[in-house]
Formats: sequence, C-alpha cells, structure tokens
Amino acid sequence: MTAREWLQKAKREKFAIGAFNVGNLETFKAIVQAATKLRSPVIIESSPGETKWMGVDNMVDLAKNFSRDFDIPILVNLDHSETLEDCQVGIEAGYDLIHFDGSKLPLEENLEIAKKVVELAHQKGLTVEGEVDHITGSSEVHSGSAAEEAAKGKFSDPERSKRFVSESGIDVLAVFFGNVHGVFAGGDENLHLDILEKVVQALPDTFFSLHGGSGIPDDQVKEAIQKGIVKVNINTEMRQVFRDSLETALEKNPDEYAMYKIEGSVVEAAQQIVEHKIEVFGSAGKV
Ligand SMILES: [Zn+2]
Repeated sequence: MTAREWLQKAKREKFAIGAFNVGNLETFKAIVQAATKLRSPVIIESSPGETKWMGVDNMVDLAKNFSRDFDIPILVNLDHSETLEDCQVGIEAGYDLIHFDGSKLPLEENLEIAKKVVELAHQKGLTVEGEVDHITGSSEVHSGSAAEEAAKGKFSDPERSKRFVSESGIDVLAVFFGNVHGVFAGGDENLHLDILEKVVQALPDTFFSLHGGSGIPDDQVKEAIQKGIVKVNINTEMRQVFRDSLETALEKNPDEYAMYKIEGSVVEAAQQIVEHKIEVFGSAGKV
C-alpha cells in the first residue's frame, strides 16, 4: 500500500500512524520491532539534521530491509525539509512522504515552493505535507511551559489553511492548535480541539498531522485522532529514551565494550515507548 492509501485507511477507520524520528540504527530497530509486535503500520522519519547524519539512501534502504525481514509496512518521511533542493533529494532517494516546511517564509514564497514540490512528488506518486502556520518549539527538553511556547506562534486559521491547501495541492497539512515541538518541564501542553475541528471542517479532503506529539497527554491525542488527525510525529521522547537508557546501560556495564551488548537495553526501552504510542494512536492490528 502507498502512503496515500495508508492515510486513507487511517482516516476511514479513525486511527493515526505514528511518525517516529530516527538518529541511529538502535532507534530505527526499536520502532520496527514495536510495529512488528503490534502489527501496526509505521512511518520512520528524518529531520534535516537526522537526514544528514543517517544519509538518505541509508534511510530508504534500511526501511526496505527491515520491511522485508520483519514483514511489516514501513513508510519513510522527510520531516521538515525547508528547501526545494532538499525535497528533491528525498524524492529521488525514494522517500514515501515529503514534508516541505515553508512556514518561516512569507505565504507567497511558501506556496510557490510547495507547488513545485507537489508537482515533482506527485509524478512519483508520493505524498506531500505542508505547513503554513509555523509550529513553535524544537525537539529538545525545555524548562518552561508548553502553553507559553505555543503562544509565540499563530494557531492555524481555517481560511488561510484552505487557501494554502487548494493553491499548493498538498495532501497533508501540519496543523498548529496548541501542539509544540519538544517536551516542557513546566508541562501545560493543551490542544485546542475547537481549532482543529474548524480546520478539518474547512478541508474535508485533506489529511492532517499532529507535530510535537511528545509530551501531549494521551487522552488529548486520542481526541485529536477522533477529530481527524491521521499522522502523529514523535521525536523528543525518542531522543530522551535513547539518551537516558544509554546512560543507565553504561553505568550498569562499566566493563562491557561490545556495543551490541550494551545497546540491547536501549533498543528495548525505546521499543516500549513506541509500543505505547501505537496503542494510543489506535494503529495496532491494522496490518
Ligand atoms: Zn515537526
């Protein structure tokens, strides 16, 4: 099944597909093993920094190899690509979904590039995600409150979203309705579901993604999925579990030098996070 077909199925059956960021083989493996165990479709994604670190061909080939070996569908998403050139690299490498993020650009410029990305990606049957109202924060652990970070941006507006989607031709819209990138020590991450509802109503044929899924209470994520979210991005929680579990593993095994022996517990810990998310997103058993 193509990415579009999976998103259509998710929309019809009211579940969301988890899009998990990877920065190494360990997190990649954890995600695939969780999806396999729960028979869930999954999206593996790389941000610009992760793409550079992993290599586009490695991303695509690892997904192919794991998909074949574990007999599970794996879609690959180019996350937050900010230029046409970067999108082209992903399109040519064989990514399934391309997220062009022109949300820091003036609207006209964002539209102009988004249209070109759509044209190139659609020729290959790929799905394009766009962003118009910039989602604030970054995929790190922050000290302040999520609500304060959210207030730095401007939430999605149904009319502007409608214009952006119809003029650009994108398939998936990254909606901003209280979700922020990162995990906030001060908590207070609250989704404004009324805003999501209005955007969904204005665009009945569009798919919607929830960015900054880390740190949002599970019940709110579930409600957002019932209201139309079909893709949830998780990055910070993957980064946290990797670092924390690695520190623990190193402390527990001061004399061990074989990497694969140290990292088994890291993969296990990351897998648990992904399994929990898959349950929340309702995608378990959909394969
Ligand atoms: Zn994001």
